[in-house]
Amino acid sequence: MQTPGSQSSLHRANLERVVRAVRLAGSLTQAEIARATGLSAATVSNIVRELKEGGTVEVTDTSAGGRRARSVSLSGDAGIVIGVDFGHTHLRVAVGNLAHQVLAEDSEPLDVDASWTEGFDRAEALVGRLIAGIGVGRDKVIGVGLGVPGPIDVESGTLGSTAILPGWAGINPRQELSSRLGVPVYVDNDANLGALGELVWGSGRGVKDLAYIKVASGVGSGLVINGQIYRGPGGTAGEIGHITLDESGPVCRCGNRGCLETFTAARYVLPLLQGTHGPELTMDRVVELARGGDPGCRRVITDVGRHIGSGVASLCNLLNPSRVVLGGSLAEAGELVLAPIRESVGRYAIPSAARQLSVLTGSLGGRAEVLGALALVLSEMGDSTLLAENGIGVRAPALMSSVR
Ligand SMILES: [Zn+2]
Repeated sequence: MQTPGSQSSLHRANLERVVRAVRLAGSLTQAEIARATGLSAATVSNIVRELKEGGTVEVTDTSAGGRRARSVSLSGDAGIVIGVDFGHTHLRVAVGNLAHQVLAEDSEPLDVDASWTEGFDRAEALVGRLIAGIGVGRDKVIGVGLGVPGPIDVESGTLGSTAILPGWAGINPRQELSSRLGVPVYVDNDANLGALGELVWGSGRGVKDLAYIKVASGVGSGLVINGQIYRGPGGTAGEIGHITLDESGPVCRCGNRGCLETFTAARYVLPLLQGTHGPELTMDRVVELARGGDPGCRRVITDVGRHIGSGVASLCNLLNPSRVVLGGSLAEAGELVLAPIRESVGRYAIPSAARQLSVLTGSLGGRAEVLGALALVLSEMGDSTLLAENGIGVRAPALMSSVR
């Protein structure tokens, strides 16, 4: 045991601070590490040298602002993290390393409502196939991030409402996957993971305060405040879909009337067009037709954008985020939906709350959640294993496909 405050425990704490800063950012120059940790440049330099000799970090020459700099990232050999994303109709798995490189990725169709055992069997098989494909043993897996399409109690890992996934009643997805794969599993809902994915790899790169809004069968959002997902004590933060826009509006599935969701989600929007465009219409098709110039579909997308913008304006007044990222199939509408969102924000938000805001579409598409599951492991895992295993590693493949 080390005595708190002793020279060796102080040194250990500094090592952990540096490893944590690099783990969260992917790669940092030594100057950036010094800023992020508050350590002096000389201390950072010594610690980086020690970690490099032990094989925990890799150092490459780069240039920052025209000056030569040394970029530090966790060693690609230090371990493997896995993301598993259960959507309502698909299963996606991604494998990455601690240097934020995505090494392998695949998806297959799956009806998760039908049978959870089949879902976990297939997830386990797909994980096995992907890590075998890159020639890495299961013993190198450090942790798994798991996304589920419903509210989750982050503390216990149980589903908050089985009304959304009736076939999953009574199971604990975190325990189930952890006992199958034998490693720690971190679980979160799809909207929070979409936010993390876009923050680390997509349209949210470089900002610390972000809201990710996904409009699909419902409306979900994930909030990142100062670089961290904000969940609230009950894990319910970010329910932008149930902001009241019209007290005498349509009845929402939550029991209220005129929620944002009742003006934007597919189940409420599609009936507006099915009389003129046929009963088989989907949201994907509406977006496609709108892009092709169909006036009815354009009008509906514009109205949806204005309503989302009202919700975003409230969000700006409360949280003053620097970026809002729109995900889901609606994002494919691009400027057709972004322009009315920005217009509503300009109309309803306090100017100073929206001045630094940029509203963008997500750049990861359907991969946002599974990459967010990878990011969840990278942000929540501890560093004690890494430092204990300093220097022990498996050779990863020489050619690594980095995410775009
Ligand atoms: Zn509602």
